[in-house]
Amino acid sequence: MAVTPQDLPYPLEALEPHISRETLEYHHGKHYKGYVDKLNAAIKGTDADGIELAELVRSGEGKPYFNHAAQAWNHEFYFAGFGAGTAAAPDGELAEAIAAKYGSFEDFVAQFSDQAKTLFGSGWTWLVLDPQSGLEIVNTANAQTPLTGSAAPLLTCDMWEHAYYIDYRNEKPKYLSGFFEVVDWNSVASRYAAARG
Ligand code: MN
Repeated sequence: MAVTPQDLPYPLEALEPHISRETLEYHHGKHYKGYVDKLNAAIKGTDADGIELAELVRSGEGKPYFNHAAQAWNHEFYFAGFGAGTAAAPDGELAEAIAAKYGSFEDFVAQFSDQAKTLFGSGWTWLVLDPQSGLEIVNTANAQTPLTGSAAPLLTCDMWEHAYYIDYRNEKPKYLSGFFEVVDWNSVASRYAAARG
């Protein structure tokens, strides 16, 4: 039983003008699906065949299929963090936790964006809930993912060039501004509530 590629939870043009239809056609239709296809080719006929994607990632460090599994999972998490016409900022307990840690939502956005801009090469910037230290902003290189550690991922920004080059060329700050225009804070709040148990 192969890993099934997930459809986008919104139409291809839903995030325009911040993330274009053309970007999603490539990013979801080619890059993400390519990772799923290569993962399925790698696990076919092995003991890993039939294991669900998140578990393949958690148990797959060092395995030949790990990078493709992690990239498939990271992309599903990234795409599921967006929505059309969503709230511009979190409310409730997540808003309180962000304000307590970072001073204000605006300060959080600035710190997340600064950390994303300092990521060298390809990777991901995450907001996670660490069981000891609470909310943290972390960068992971290439296909690395918090899913293999103890912190629960809440939000991620894909900082691979293919995520923004069509819409923003080399302008990472503009991509990050656009990213925060389409984050679905209800989805992030649900992840936060689930992580707190
Ligand atoms: Mn990507």
